[in-house]
Amino acid sequence: MLCEWCNSLNVTRTTSSVYWELPDGTGAIEITNTPTLSCPDCSMTYQSEPIIKEIEDQLFLIDCKRLGKVIPFEELMEIPRLLKKNYFDFSS
Ligand SMILES: [Zn+2]
Repeated sequence: MLCEWCNSLNVTRTTSSVYWELPDGTGAIEITNTPTLSCPDCSMTYQSEPIIKEIEDQLFLIDCKRLGKVIPFEELMEIPRLLKKNYFDFSS
């Protein structure tokens, strides 16, 4: 696994809390325990592209009004989706 920022091989997997803007613009939630990459060489701590996409798809497809202010990543991903797929995502 390479660091997405500096291509270092020393990047490690960790978890952290992230603040995420809701797609309907009503505010942001805190997602705890989010899979995170940490790079000692460029000091970046970030979520990988697939994780970002997973979070964005999930927030887009669930009823965000029922979310609390803070939710663990695993719990967020277990919320049943309203649609079977993201019909507005043309990238896949
Ligand atoms: Zn790096």
